[in-house]
Amino acid sequence: MARKKIIAGNWKMNMTPSQAVELIDTLKPLVGNEDVDVLLCVPAIDIIPAMEAAKGSNIMIGAENMYFEEKGAFTGEISPLMLVDAGVKYVIIGHSERREYFAETDETVNKKVLKAFEHGITPIICCGETLTQREQGVTIDFIRQQIKIAFLNVTAAQAASAVIAYEPIWAIGTGKVATTEQAQEVCKAIRECIGEIYDEATADAIRIQYGGSVSASSAPELFAQPDIDGGLVGGASLKADFGRIVCYNK
Ligand code: PEP
Repeated sequence: MARKKIIAGNWKMNMTPSQAVELIDTLKPLVGNEDVDVLLCVPAIDIIPAMEAAKGSNIMIGAENMYFEEKGAFTGEISPLMLVDAGVKYVIIGHSERREYFAETDETVNKKVLKAFEHGITPIICCGETLTQREQGVTIDFIRQQIKIAFLNVTAAQAASAVIAYEPIWAIGTGKVATTEQAQEVCKAIRECIGEIYDEATADAIRIQYGGSVSASSAPELFAQPDIDGGLVGGASLKADFGRIVCYNK
């Protein structure tokens, strides 16, 4: 089955609402590629103006995080109901920065993934090893564990529609991109793990991104790999370069 590529920007804690509108206006004419689903995951306060700015283009607007409850006394959190009402279809879950700085665990990732599906939002589920784990030779074991816990109680139909982002922590924001072989090896192992949890059809359908210092020059080779279905792009999604990444095959 041919999987459509999905290339997503992760703006992290960058861009005020007015800067968001300005950047989307710049990106709109640069991201026309019918082979790719184009998504920008933006800070919560930017979602509504970004949606407005992206109207009439192929850019979808997603969120960077979401809580696993619908409402209540959770000061500062963002509810799935809020995202749905704003028109959000994708949310990043379990980014390594959230795991490192905001105490997210595989268990909270699983709760968020289940909640996102319950509300019809597609999670982009992040996983990735540290440099120490890579050097210790436990990368695949570690990632398999992250995936198995993230997908607990997720149905095969839900899993088939999910997106996984493989992001080696040592490659995020460091300029150190994983080699094509390293990225393909882990994305293949993730697909095999999904095949073991579910079945071949689910493994075939799920989209797996690579993330970690993706640039216009590294994108073509990475995205040509059989198990890499696009990218999650941090720094380079904050500039016009994102257009070159989206048009990697043109
Ligand atoms: C990210 O934030 O998910 C990411 C991959 O960042 P960068 O592209 O800047 O490494």
